[in-house]
Amino acid sequence: MKLKHLSFFHQNSRSYSVLFILLIFIASCARDYVTGKRTFNLVSEQEEVKIGKEADPSISAQYGLYNDPELSAYIDNIGQKIAAISHRPKLKYTFRVVDSPIVNAFALPGGWIYFTRGILAHFNSEEELAGVMGHEIGHVVARHGAEQMSKAQLAGIGLAGMSIFSPELARFGELAQVGVGLLFLKFGRSQESESDRLGVEYSTKLGYDAHKMADFFRTIARLSESAEGSLPNFLSTHPNPVDRESTVNRLAGEWQKKINFKPLKINSRDYYKRIDGLVYGNDPRQGFVENQTFYHPEMQFQFPVPETWKIANMPTIVQMASPDEKAYIQFSLALEKTLAAAADKFVQENKLTVINRQNTKINEFNALLVDAKHETETQSIRVLTYYIQKDKNIFSFQGLAKTADYESKKNDLYYVMTGFRQLTDQNALNKKPLRIRIETVNNPDTFKNVMKLFRMKEDLFPELAILNGVEESARLNKGDIVKIIRE
Ligand SMILES: [Zn+2]
Repeated sequence: MKLKHLSFFHQNSRSYSVLFILLIFIASCARDYVTGKRTFNLVSEQEEVKIGKEADPSISAQYGLYNDPELSAYIDNIGQKIAAISHRPKLKYTFRVVDSPIVNAFALPGGWIYFTRGILAHFNSEEELAGVMGHEIGHVVARHGAEQMSKAQLAGIGLAGMSIFSPELARFGELAQVGVGLLFLKFGRSQESESDRLGVEYSTKLGYDAHKMADFFRTIARLSESAEGSLPNFLSTHPNPVDRESTVNRLAGEWQKKINFKPLKINSRDYYKRIDGLVYGNDPRQGFVENQTFYHPEMQFQFPVPETWKIANMPTIVQMASPDEKAYIQFSLALEKTLAAAADKFVQENKLTVINRQNTKINEFNALLVDAKHETETQSIRVLTYYIQKDKNIFSFQGLAKTADYESKKNDLYYVMTGFRQLTDQNALNKKPLRIRIETVNNPDTFKNVMKLFRMKEDLFPELAILNGVEESARLNKGDIVKIIRE
């Protein structure tokens, strides 16, 4: 979690989902920018821009922006070039690099486009980047976001700012999935295909070889096959990436013929230089789990995680669920200035009936315990919360279980919450993120041997092969560039 972004997030999320619900009911006529036809559309361009503009701070806050001005300027530059030759060149486009290890790129209505550092790590050329950029601009141009976004998908943006008892979101098991929100916003098959076509068209017109864009679908396919790639990504799983690879290859050939293609002179080393030093994978500074313990080096605290519990460390919130998903804990930073104010707000917003409320201590920290119930006609949920004052911050634990399950789950809830303590372990405090490093192959050899030479661990080879866009069995030549992973 990147707690410093929280305040931003809370201010914007609510108004946004309310806004969108309103927009659903405002239908208007708008132009289809690709075909030039006038189409029936739910939102006007003005409204589209408004949606993007209001959601952008939430996204920036929830996921965090990657702090590398040079890299951001480079992405912006490529994005603006493609936008300028797109079917909607007059729209103002904003491109951002999101501080997430997930491999993804996504677009909001009105011209806001996001690339994660995870996807930038996986590109092996500017051509791949340009193709995906064209694809995302394609979604904006073709107004897919405005057309397709459902209330539920958009609601995901604001999850942490919304009542956790909102009826659609309250099913525990699904909370973690909904929480990741927009990163996984899915478009339909025909919309993805249309964006692929536009991505090929735009990148080809600028002199990028779109066959390279097709190559990136192989990376996507390999990531979704591998265990750690189990999360959905920008290209979603439908249409299937392998089909899209062949379609994009065919379209690339067609467009190159059609426009008398003149390729840009691109030195592949240039892209690699841009990502040399890029943070790779989870950044432990924002919290990590080891030995059944959640550590947060930046804010210097830790708490235990019960064995076999699932944990999701998201940018503004940590979520945990028991293996049977009958108990759930959410941990976050409260915005209020006092323990009492934080508790009051939570109790009011969620219409809780307080059973017990008392000042207490958790290790050396002042804390406030609120044991409460949330009852509706259909269900009764027990809500155990602790607010803890550490330095100038107030942290909150919110534990939930159905009243019927509470007795069997309460020990786990107390174990986590009362285990909150100061982090003093130097190893945990000094844990550094891994970074992409760029190296040059000095002697022709197999990929595996080259990786060994750079002292990469063998269990990382499959991941490194995907990262480099080669097979593990590949042979590399002298002068080839490879990405490795180091502190
Ligand atoms: Zn897409």
